[in-house]
Amino acid sequence: MSNKKIIIIGGGVIGLGIGWQLAKSGTAVTIYERAQAGRAASWAAAGMLAPLAEAHREEPELLKFGSQSLARYPQWVEALEADAEMSIGYRVEGTLIVGLEPDDTHQLRHLYTSQQELGLDVEWLNGREAREIESALSPRVTAAIHCATDHQVDNRLMVQALRRAYQMRGGILYENSTIKRIVVENGTATGVQTQDGFHEAEVLILAAGCWSAQIDGLPDTIIPPVRPVKGQMLALQMEEGITVKNVIRTVRARYPTSVYLVPRNDGRLIVGATSEEMGFDTRLTAGGVFELLRGAWEAVPGIYELPLLETWSGLRPGSRDNAPILGKTPVENLIYATGHYRNGILLTPITAYEITKLILTSETSEIIAPFQLDRFLK
Ligand SMILES: Cc1cc2nc3c(=O)[nH]c(=O)nc-3n(C[C@H](O)[C@H](O)[C@H](O)COP(=O)(O)OP(=O)(O)OC[C@H]3O[C@@H](n4cnc5c(N)ncnc54)[C@H](O)[C@@H]3O)c2cc1C
Repeated sequence: MSNKKIIIIGGGVIGLGIGWQLAKSGTAVTIYERAQAGRAASWAAAGMLAPLAEAHREEPELLKFGSQSLARYPQWVEALEADAEMSIGYRVEGTLIVGLEPDDTHQLRHLYTSQQELGLDVEWLNGREAREIESALSPRVTAAIHCATDHQVDNRLMVQALRRAYQMRGGILYENSTIKRIVVENGTATGVQTQDGFHEAEVLILAAGCWSAQIDGLPDTIIPPVRPVKGQMLALQMEEGITVKNVIRTVRARYPTSVYLVPRNDGRLIVGATSEEMGFDTRLTAGGVFELLRGAWEAVPGIYELPLLETWSGLRPGSRDNAPILGKTPVENLIYATGHYRNGILLTPITAYEITKLILTSETSEIIAPFQLDRFLK
């Protein structure tokens, strides 16, 4: 337990996750959320927990970090579901990455080779073998990679559960309350300014997602290099005879957008996502939705018949090197937990556990040390 008074800026999965862990340890913690907690990127996401399918050869630290977070998911889910008294839709079916044309197979083979070089537990399948695992796949699917250990969670349920668990443990949440300024005096963060005035804190945690660089008061040199990366999404309603069990991702060498299909326990089939550098523009476009539907239909033709339930977009908090920015900063008492980009749902448990440990012990663990802001300051 810590006697420090903690303020968290931002009530997404990251702010709520850290807040829940701190409140659980008996620490006094307050979250200020500009709008409604958990309704920004954390609501928009697909909830894939996919360190293997997302692995890039040039990001080995991130792969390790994601795998460590995935390993903590079962324990995280059990504790969260117990505190919140609700399910968060955690599912352990794997991911199939599929290709439809010779060019795709070529790209898929390249991906498989780099996954093998990274020592990942993945399996190469031909089209027939892939359809044995997922019968809804198109007969045009010629090859696939099976990432059996990638999982998924219903991120919308997870933010609702986190909000509940956080408050149940005594955490204070102010919604519709914008932090206008971070107050730094003589190199130390002392509190925040909202529309209601100054609020003192002994520790400040910046977890404002893609808006983390927008808040006044930080010295220019330590403004986190975080930008919004737009993703358009849609949801279909699965019906009898047209159901998908595994997460399916496409590799499409000739098209701008590869898509994924993520089946939920309630029958929704989430289809995503575009990746667009459009600043804070969140408009849906005909082209974006068209690419998603075309990609999903090519991999699973049966979706043509399904009702379209919802379309939306969200802003991923992308950092300069795609990895999160975590831990201490050159300003005393100011901690960053931002820049989780395309893996923030996957990385929530490890971020929450490790940032809480940092606050309770003042020690930066080896696990988060590679992700500190200082990597951009050197
Ligand atoms: C389309 C899409 C698909 C994705 N799919 C996946 C996926 O499958 N798997 C995965 O792991 N990740 C996925 N992600 C990424 C994941 O959603 C994010 O990395 C994660 O949600 C980031 O959480 P966060 O709490 O940092 O940000 P957010 O959820 O954006 O929360 C930040 C909060 O801070 C608040 N805020 C901002 N400024 C202020 C201020 N001045 N004062 C007070 N509050 C403020 C905002 O209102 C917001 O609620 C996806 C993202 C998108 C957009």
